Amino acid sequence: MPDAARFLADLDALRAIGARGTGVVRRAFDEADIHARRWLADRFADAGLEARIDPAGNVWGLRGRLLIGSHIDTQPEGGWLDGALGVIAGLEVARGNPGVSVVAFQDEEGRFGATTGSEIWSGTLTLAEADALTDLDGLTFGAARAALPATGAMPDPSRFSAYLEPHIEQGPVLDAAGEAVGVVTAIVGLRQVTVTLTGAQNHAGTTPMHLRRDALRGLSDADHAIRAALAPLVTPASVWTIGHVALHPNAPSAVPGRARFTVQWRDAETARLDAMEAAIRAALEDVTRTAGLGLEISATTALPPTAMDPGLRAVLRDAAAAHAPDRWREMPSGALHDATNVARLMPAGMLFAPSIGGISHDFAEDTGRDDLAICLAVLAEAAARLT
Ligand SMILES: [Zn+2]
Repeated sequence: MPDAARFLADLDALRAIGARGTGVVRRAFDEADIHARRWLADRFADAGLEARIDPAGNVWGLRGRLLIGSHIDTQPEGGWLDGALGVIAGLEVARGNPGVSVVAFQDEEGRFGATTGSEIWSGTLTLAEADALTDLDGLTFGAARAALPATGAMPDPSRFSAYLEPHIEQGPVLDAAGEAVGVVTAIVGLRQVTVTLTGAQNHAGTTPMHLRRDALRGLSDADHAIRAALAPLVTPASVWTIGHVALHPNAPSAVPGRARFTVQWRDAETARLDAMEAAIRAALEDVTRTAGLGLEISATTALPPTAMDPGLRAVLRDAAAAHAPDRWREMPSGALHDATNVARLMPAGMLFAPSIGGISHDFAEDTGRDDLAICLAVLAEAAARLT
């Protein structure tokens, strides 16, 4: 049986490294992050695991063939559980199960790239390519990682049979339903285009309304048209966002001549992503034709959905039913995780704990201690069935 009190004490100890009020700041390879990585390597060694820091800064506790983990770096204003939950839960399970190894990947939160440590390990990115990535101040990943010398090589993925990543949901679904556990079906795919609407820039005082070709009005109409076009195609888990807008000339006394904006949409199924894309493009063409605006749509940026392994999902469902009867569900993950990369190497599964109020990437991020303990119990049960 895992020791929930010891697990919570470890989470609290990690929270103290880089603490800011209720939150934490540990950017990949900053002083607090390096301190936390060395602290974690010591905890792995104390637990009887072979502790290793690899050249990318990933921290490993090696023993069995089932790999459990996540990340311990944070956002610039991070919560105490984002990533840390999965790593510390893995540590506690490994103490009682010799079939388990644990990993804390580096730079999941994207100070330099995005999920950088697991990208390197999975072969999506070479270490040399990663070394050239820079943070917002121009520091390179290569220079930053020199501050944490490797104690060993990256482990060969073939030594592991499967990967489990427990994580907070970072959304409101479980908390709103009063549920304790989410078994992840897939990590959603993401697509994005940049749209440029061109109208006629003119004087805001002298141009009659009926003669205007106002690019902002086109954007506003496009937002409505996209919502209407997507309504019949989507599920409650589908999302779309116009997140970045640039208006030209962006002046109080000028009719906007140009609006450039991003449209991003996410879903767990490729077919639905395709259907959403067709509907978005058709809506944009419709609106601009009616309004007499020019339309340019960029090439689509696409990250495919990552399905979680069906066998691992079944094991996690059984474990959830045993420890949180009637308080669990299957659900997609709307956020990216290291499991996306690890799924290229081996079967991967994910487990969610609720986020109070759905808050994450914020100092206020939190989860009830009872729910953290349930997450640990479900993980330990699943690991026992898999080892
Ligand atoms: Zn995370």
